[in-house]
Amino acid sequence: MKLIDGKELAKNIRTNLKDEVEMLKSKGINPKLAVIMVGDDKASAVYVRNKSKACNELGIEYEEFLLKTETTMDELLSLIDKLNKDINIDGILLQSPIPKHLDINEAFRKIEPKKDVDGFNPVNVGKLSLNQDCFVSCTPYGIIKMLETYNVPIEGAHAVIIGRSNIVGKPLLQCLLNKNATVTICHSKTKNLEEVTKQADILIAAIGKPEFVTANMVKDGACVIDVGINRTEEGKLLGDVKFFEVSEKASCITPVPGGVGPMTIAMLMANVVKAAHYREN
Ligand code: NDP
Repeated sequence: MKLIDGKELAKNIRTNLKDEVEMLKSKGINPKLAVIMVGDDKASAVYVRNKSKACNELGIEYEEFLLKTETTMDELLSLIDKLNKDINIDGILLQSPIPKHLDINEAFRKIEPKKDVDGFNPVNVGKLSLNQDCFVSCTPYGIIKMLETYNVPIEGAHAVIIGRSNIVGKPLLQCLLNKNATVTICHSKTKNLEEVTKQADILIAAIGKPEFVTANMVKDGACVIDVGINRTEEGKLLGDVKFFEVSEKASCITPVPGGVGPMTIAMLMANVVKAAHYREN
C-alpha cells in the first residue's frame, strides 16, 4: 500500500508557487486574496487562519473582511461589489457557511468569475462542465493533482464518489469525467451502496461521517481518497474512511490529517496566482 502524502505534495506545490509569485512581483503585480467571513463559525476561523498562513508563506497579500452575524444581504453584496472593482485584489473567497438568513448562492453569483478562486460562481461551474479553462474548486482540483502525481490511472478507471455536495462531489465528478474516467456518484439515497463502492478503481469519500467507509466496501487494489474531516469529542481528527482496515486492501490511500486538506489550501494558492496572471493581459 502506498500512502498518498498530501502534506508533502502541497509543500512542493507551494514552493513552486512562491517562485511564480516572485516573478509576478518583479513585473509589479502583487497577488492579493480577499477573504470574507460572516459570523463566528469556529471551524471557519481555523480554515481562514490556515489560508492566511499559506498566503504569508508565499508572499501573497491577504486581507480579511470579518462581517458580523447580523450582516444583511445588501451589505454582503456591496462588499463583494467593492472587491470586484478593486484592481489590487485578484481573488475573492467567501468562507462558508454563512448565517442562514443570507443567500450564499446569490453571493457566489456576485463574485466576478475572474476573481472566483473557489470556483463556485455559476460561470466557473458551467465552464468546468464544458471542460473549458476556469477556476476549479480547490478540493477536487487537489484530488486530481494527487492522483496524477501518484500516477493513478484515471482514464478508463471507474471512479466512485460518495457525496454530491456542490463544493466536493459534483465538481469532482466533472473533473474526473474531463479526465475520461467512468464516474458514479452516490449519496444518502443510493441503494446497495456497498455493491457500488466495491466496483471502484478510485473510491472517493466526501460524506462527513467518521470512518464510514469500511474494508468490506472497498475492492482489492483500489485507490482510496478520504476527503472527510470529522472532529471527535476528544478533539481527534478522523476521516470518512476507516484507515487501518481499508489501507490493508487499498493500493494507495490518503491519510487524515495530511491528505486532501493541505492540497485544498495549496490549490487555492494556485488559483490566486492564476487570477493574478490575468493582470498581465
Ligand atoms: P455535505 O454534508 O455537503 O455532503 C455530504 C454528502 O454525503 C451528501 O451528498 C450526502 O447525501 C452524502 N451522504 C450522507 N450520508 C450518507 C450515507 N449514509 N450514504 C451515502 N451518502 C451519504 O458535505 P461536504 O461535501 O461539504 O463535506 C464532506 C466531508 O468533507 C466533510 O467531512 C467535510 O468536513 C470534508 N471536507 C474536507 C475538505 C478538505 O479540504 N479536506 C473540503 C471540503 C469538505 P445527500 O446529498 O443525499 O444528503
